[in-house]
Amino acid sequence: MNRFAQKLAEHSASLRRGCPEVLQVNVGKLCNLTCVHCHVNAGPKRKEIMSRETIDRIIGWLAKTSIPTVDLTGGAPEMIADFRYFIQRVRGLQPWRRIIDRCNLTILLERGYEGLAEFLARNKTEVIASMPCYSPENVNAQRGEGVFDGSIAALQLLNSLGYGIDPELPLHLVYNPVGAFLPPPQANLEIDYKRELKTQFGIVFNNLYALTNLPIGRFASYLRRNNKLDEYMGLLIQAFNPATIDGLMCRNTISVGWRGEVYDCDFNQQLGMQWSDNNESGRLFLWDIDPDALEGRQIMSAEHCFGCTAGAGSTCGGAIA
Ligand code: SF4
Ligand code: SF4
Repeated sequence: MNRFAQKLAEHSASLRRGCPEVLQVNVGKLCNLTCVHCHVNAGPKRKEIMSRETIDRIIGWLAKTSIPTVDLTGGAPEMIADFRYFIQRVRGLQPWRRIIDRCNLTILLERGYEGLAEFLARNKTEVIASMPCYSPENVNAQRGEGVFDGSIAALQLLNSLGYGIDPELPLHLVYNPVGAFLPPPQANLEIDYKRELKTQFGIVFNNLYALTNLPIGRFASYLRRNNKLDEYMGLLIQAFNPATIDGLMCRNTISVGWRGEVYDCDFNQQLGMQWSDNNESGRLFLWDIDPDALEGRQIMSAEHCFGCTAGAGSTCGGAIA
């Protein structure tokens, strides 16, 4: 039993699925940035991207469900050739689905992506954008030189299209710490972000999500290089908060990889913890599973899960408790 499972047992808790409400699709590892905290190890040279055939199979499966939210992530999801096709196919489904684009902002201004922000607005796609600070030093340190200015210009572009203003065009920002520490309280941080972005740049947005960095991927390498991995794991374990368990995103999210394979969450995906069944077919893909038969399924956990239960907790939608 891993230390996370042990901790749950100490609290007489277990980690099992409820009803699926979010289909989170990681369309690939290609990205225009190479951020220090990236748990995906994404970057401009990665070749793993979703094909149109896989998108069609996912849409075919989704059409038979009423899962209300489709959450597109990556890499920079906008960089796959069929990103717009994917969104248009989801928009063609009944009932109507909420679509989320997890956007690094800078991609909206890259050459070759002209009209992308307008496309997102036309297709009522919610934008959840990474913005690790409202000051240039921290953003550039974590995401690369020049990223801050690009992010500000992209946010201004989104505002000009109605994002963060029109209720049909939500714009949320994501904060994550620039080092081996937990995020500060989300509500206070949101007040600071709103004040600073508005007064300095005239930018408005809806909510701020404060996320904890999980010790995997490039962030784990960064911790190892700086001899901080054990210390950070200790911090996460020490801060275990049982009140976060019911709100963990793996309870209502199905995570799909670029080949259509299924996981409990995007972190498990990066660790290769693909679902499998007990018979000969082995590893499971989205089209192998019955969405109505998932309730009660045991969630695959390991020590990185302490990143989701530390302090106020952390999900793709921000703090839990
Ligand atoms: S954190 Fe996001 S923007 Fe940065 S390299 Fe990873 S996928 Fe790209
Ligand atoms: S990493 Fe977090 S979301 Fe993923 S299985 Fe563990 S607790 Fe759940």
